[in-house]
Amino acid sequence: MAQAVVPAMQCQVGAKAAVRARPAAGAGGRVWGVRRTGRGTSGFKVMAISTASTGVVPRLEQMLNLDTKPYTDKIIAEYIWVGGSGIDLRSKSRTIEKPVEDPSELPKWNYDGSSTGQAPGEDSEVILYPQAIFKDPFRGGNNILVMCDTYTPAGEPIPTNKRHRAAQIFSDPRVVEQVPWFGIEQEYTLLQRDVNWPLGWPVGGYPGPQGPYYCAVGAEKSFGRDISDAHYKACLYAGINISGTNGEVMPGQWEYQVGPSVGIEAGDHIWISRYLLERITEQAGVVLTLDPKPIPGDWNGAGCHTNYSTKSMREDGGFELIKKAILNLSLRHDLHISAYGEGNERRLTGLHETASIDTFSWGVANRGCSIRVGRDTEAKGKGYLEDRRPASNMDPYIVTGLLAETTILWEPTLEAEALAAKKLALKV
Ligand code: ADP
Ligand code: MN
Ligand code: MN
Ligand code: MN
Repeated sequence: MAQAVVPAMQCQVGAKAAVRARPAAGAGGRVWGVRRTGRGTSGFKVMAISTASTGVVPRLEQMLNLDTKPYTDKIIAEYIWVGGSGIDLRSKSRTIEKPVEDPSELPKWNYDGSSTGQAPGEDSEVILYPQAIFKDPFRGGNNILVMCDTYTPAGEPIPTNKRHRAAQIFSDPRVVEQVPWFGIEQEYTLLQRDVNWPLGWPVGGYPGPQGPYYCAVGAEKSFGRDISDAHYKACLYAGINISGTNGEVMPGQWEYQVGPSVGIEAGDHIWISRYLLERITEQAGVVLTLDPKPIPGDWNGAGCHTNYSTKSMREDGGFELIKKAILNLSLRHDLHISAYGEGNERRLTGLHETASIDTFSWGVANRGCSIRVGRDTEAKGKGYLEDRRPASNMDPYIVTGLLAETTILWEPTLEAEALAAKKLALKV
């Protein structure tokens, strides 16, 4: 499948090569000689594949780009949900009679949960509840992407449905009143297919040490920009609140930011943005990984810094509330760490702009802390905090929900304070 939808650039290269190949094949080997190599036979092989692809790709694209609107009101809805590992995304398509504006207009649907590790074989049905809709940048028109969460037929959220609990937290009147904002920095790493080695890295070897790659331009420093850019536009088209992108410190690694988004929307937008990234990398034949430390050693890991503020933090005198939130976060450090992504212990080493996983710390403008407060926030006495602990593979429903719970709903207990004091004493 990936072959049939190679990026247009490659198709054009193939088409030109094929035009050249025809006379070459007819005229014998001499023309090949002119084209500077002695790789006659292997040259033919490549041409044969290119010719085949020029026959297939344009016709498929014609169908894929068909505008169905003049002929039918029907649209295609891609129902998307989080699978059994808690990080894999699954989706399937269905026809809806006419364009919709709100998820409540969409039917519930079901799937075979025994094939996603979410239900036993003998009772395998899982029910999809449509929760948020986005425009579909792949199909265009009125077609949509639908973020769903997952329930048993009896209407109970299944264990991997983390949206349900988050939605409860975000509909608590005390949380609603605080209008929680989240700005999430999603880092990710691109890998070459089959070898599972970062994009732009020599297979079986390493690039030069980190330094020149962050926000870099140039063929020897920036790898995968078209993917980052295609994703940026796809997000804007879909209606995702994407706020920027940048090349990362480790070559082949990128970041995009989504937000500030209010409440449950932050989780929905991050999940759909990840879905778009999976689809775009699928088309490009490049593998996406959200592993928090894809390459061990002196290479930056991948995080999902979560910038957070409440209404009170954004108002005059907000710094006091930011400090109060930080106190609460310090008392629940272990709980947060346990919910911030698989394999995060490989990333939170205390090196490479991280804080150690066992110790809670905070500071102004310090990227080696668990929580960073920006200079601007300190200067203005109001603003937001950055939780730098979440890993790139965190579940945004869990992280945003927990931040709101710990800082708005939870009050430190004597027990929590005593425990924290004891831990601190042990470390000294
Ligand atoms: P960094 O300097 O850590 O790389 P970025 O610029 O990548 O930061 O990301 C910062 C994020 O914080 C952006 O998504 C931005 O929208 C978000 N943000 C800005 N102000 C607030 C706020 N008051 N509350 C929550 N998030 C915010
Ligand atoms: Mn950033
Ligand atoms: Mn970053
Ligand atoms: Mn950051």
